[in-house]
Amino acid sequence: MLLIKNCEVYSPAYLGKKDIVVAGGKIEEIGENIQVSKAFSNVEIIEGEGKFLFPGFIDSHVHILGGGGESGFNSRTPEITLSELTSAGITTVVGCLGTDSVTRDMRSLLAKARGLEEDGITTYVFTGSYNIPARTIFKEADEDIILIDKVVGVGEVALSDHRSSQPTYEEFIRVVSRARVGGLLSGKAGIVNIHMGEGKAGLNYLFRMVRESEIPITQILPTHVNRCEELLKSALEYGKIGGLLDITTSSDKNNLEPTEKLASEALKYLLDNGVPIENIQFTSDGQGSLPLFGENGEIKGLGIGKVSSLYDEVRAAILNKKIPIEHAISVITSNVAGHFKFSNKGRIQQGFDGDLVLVDKKNLSIIDVVAKGNIMVKDQKIIKKGMFEANTK
Ligand code: ZN
Repeated sequence: MLLIKNCEVYSPAYLGKKDIVVAGGKIEEIGENIQVSKAFSNVEIIEGEGKFLFPGFIDSHVHILGGGGESGFNSRTPEITLSELTSAGITTVVGCLGTDSVTRDMRSLLAKARGLEEDGITTYVFTGSYNIPARTIFKEADEDIILIDKVVGVGEVALSDHRSSQPTYEEFIRVVSRARVGGLLSGKAGIVNIHMGEGKAGLNYLFRMVRESEIPITQILPTHVNRCEELLKSALEYGKIGGLLDITTSSDKNNLEPTEKLASEALKYLLDNGVPIENIQFTSDGQGSLPLFGENGEIKGLGIGKVSSLYDEVRAAILNKKIPIEHAISVITSNVAGHFKFSNKGRIQQGFDGDLVLVDKKNLSIIDVVAKGNIMVKDQKIIKKGMFEANTK
């Protein structure tokens, strides 16, 4: 049992100063001056004075198994560790493969997700990769979504990118239809997460799907929409007709592509131009490689995406772009839970999972992190490490 005292709660809506009780991994009570009977000897207490309390963060696009490899085998990025996620406030993660679905596969991705879940956070995966047809565990994507609990959709499928499998529109829409039916039959979102490159075709297939098919626009979630000006502009049009938009927070800040926008700037731009906040979310693209390509597609350099950028950009949105806290944090909490139909996640509400982040009221830095009622980070110290982290750090 856990008692958090005197914190100012953003649920994401502002609830004022409250005490929170978490029991059995769930939020049991939200109230004032809650006293816990001395009969309970095993109550842990976190002092929330001087802190804001946010829902645990959800990052729905992380290469948990590692990704990359676009510069040869030694450019394959490493797997993520538990504490990299928890120290970034992330208590729910959706893992994905990327360009490489030959030396990485769905079986390993699923095992990695299960390992992180055993370590105490909540995990899901997308089935497939950049490639269409999707490389799945069963024969088709809908089978994976229906038969494997952790599979919540298909992704990241690449479009308008020189690394994409250059699917025809018909091939693309067939995958989306599989995901939709898989989602319907399993009660999941069946989201198709679409990696958008800088290619000329831009969001053409997405607009065409909206024009020509009966599939709801919310079935698909284009990501990396802030990677260049052209793409962000058409993302704005797409957002205005009801499309969901995913902004990537990992970027090489000292080496931004000429028209790339930081996630906090892209959020401000979309909000100022009339996209509803509920349609927008952030993801980190953590552990993905950040290849910098030259004019002719040659690699200029390589970086690695960090999950810590997820909250860093939310913080930048609050501090630098003056976006209200309740809006800024919704892009990594309640909005993501809504898009993915995670019914017990993304809000501080009675009966919801005990996933919580406490931050310093003044500088907004992360102080304590709780996942399913267990303290993962306390006073900025990592309390719970993954199996092999303990030996190496
Ligand atoms: Zn991608």
